[in-house]
Amino acid sequence: MSEPSNVRIVFLGGLGEIGRNCMAIEHDSQVLLIDCGLMFPDADMHGIDLVLPDFTWLRQNADRIVGCVATHGHEDHVGALQYLLRELSFPVYGSAVTLGLARNRIEEAGLMGKTELIVVRDGERRMIGPFDVEFIPVTHSVPHAHAIALHTPQGVILHTGDFKLDLTPVDGRRTDLGRIGALASTEGIRLLLADSTNAEEHGHAPSETSVGKVLRQIFHEQDGRRIITASFASHLHRIQQIADAAVATGRVVATLGLSMKKNVRMGRDLGVVTIPDASLVDIDDIDKYPPGKVCIISTGSQGEPMSALSLLARGESRFVKIGEHDTVILSSHAIPGNEGNVNRVIDGLLRSGCEVIHSGVADVHATGHAQADELKTYLSITRPQFYVPIHGEYRHMVANAKLGELMGVPHDHVHVCEDGDVIELSADGVSKVGRVPAGYLYVDGIVGDVGQGVLRDRKVLAEEGVVVVVVTVDIESGKVLTGPEIITRGWVYAPEAEDLLDEACDTVAAAVEKALAAGVRDVDALERDVRRTAGKFVHDRTKRRPMIVPVVMEA
Ligand SMILES: [Zn+2]
Ligand SMILES: [Zn+2]
Repeated sequence: MSEPSNVRIVFLGGLGEIGRNCMAIEHDSQVLLIDCGLMFPDADMHGIDLVLPDFTWLRQNADRIVGCVATHGHEDHVGALQYLLRELSFPVYGSAVTLGLARNRIEEAGLMGKTELIVVRDGERRMIGPFDVEFIPVTHSVPHAHAIALHTPQGVILHTGDFKLDLTPVDGRRTDLGRIGALASTEGIRLLLADSTNAEEHGHAPSETSVGKVLRQIFHEQDGRRIITASFASHLHRIQQIADAAVATGRVVATLGLSMKKNVRMGRDLGVVTIPDASLVDIDDIDKYPPGKVCIISTGSQGEPMSALSLLARGESRFVKIGEHDTVILSSHAIPGNEGNVNRVIDGLLRSGCEVIHSGVADVHATGHAQADELKTYLSITRPQFYVPIHGEYRHMVANAKLGELMGVPHDHVHVCEDGDVIELSADGVSKVGRVPAGYLYVDGIVGDVGQGVLRDRKVLAEEGVVVVVVTVDIESGKVLTGPEIITRGWVYAPEAEDLLDEACDTVAAAVEKALAAGVRDVDALERDVRRTAGKFVHDRTKRRPMIVPVVMEA
């Protein structure tokens, strides 16, 4: 009898950052993707809209991809599908809510023809190519999320998905620890891949329903005032709890922001969100109701500059003018990198005279990710042979690895991996067998990807400015005809630095004349001279290193 074939896992994103989660499972010459998400850029990625996983390896293996399993509908798990589907074509599997959220963007991109969205039920087990895939319910900050159990010739690989152990979730649909325990005690868990986001946080994440209690209390206290809430548009259970608090205090509910409107409609269609018809009104009609009878549910909880809440805070909203009769509840937590934007929105709201309640002053938010005690519980139930932390910055994965060891996984069976690592599961266990490209793929507008070089230039331009030096020479006679002329932005403010600029021109002119006198006639060589001379002058005199753009023209 032949040995059972090995299974490989290619980590393409999410191991080393929060976002762009993507991995490929390779078995029997076929490839199954788990998630394909995007990441929001850091403040120093100037002009970048999004960051995607590196698709190089997927492109090279395009004809072997049998599908993508989406664990849940967050952007960091499904948001890159609309980019990958431009180049490749494959079906996507997930819950109705997961696919409903993924569908919006794929549809907008006009790519529905490149995929088939296949809805799976909780607990469903099905073959996708040679992959035997089971979808296990988990609680998270979006409804109907799944863990994925892959039944492979090398045993069960369990991917936790994004999860928490919420014992009192809004819809009563708990993480199915019973099934996970049954898998552990029958087949056994060969390899566990676990969400590391909150591995550094002690204790147990609060239940989502605890937020509902706080919201109801606040709604009572704000009697007579208009309430505006902001949260993730995909957090349908949070939206449900806000709507419940509103309806219980005699308010009508209106959504603000396109994605909120779309998602609430989808949630109601799927039976995940329940708001009585009589309580849901159009945002255009809210002024027909007294402030104390209105609740507006808005997008923009991350302070995104063009979002509904930001427009509101700047007094630019077409639909709502805010003032001293309003209370704004930010039922959310700023994702790292967004704090500045969120603070600006809070300042804007306060300046307009309204009251602001956020997670820093009241328990109006609960995380969707398991904290240390939940991970320990999960580990004690699954008792995995091998443990690989995923989904987190490096520090989060290291903290999660320590939890694995604490719960009895032997040190040499715990592997901290990174984007680009390829691991193999064989009869001998887990080993790292290679690397694939896994750099950041930057998306800028609709144009597509932007390289590292462009980003480096933008960093210099943003931090140091630019100096353009233009000089016209007569190559035959070896004379400077016009210039040098210096144009600058962001180095010195030209009208206030005439002397400095004159001196710079003289210095460059001297260098060019010297080069011409020495017989240099090559324009590229002259430009190099100009760049060197101008760069040295700028640095000597101002200690700055702006981008120097030399332009030497032949008459
Ligand atoms: Zn998530
Ligand atoms: Zn996630």
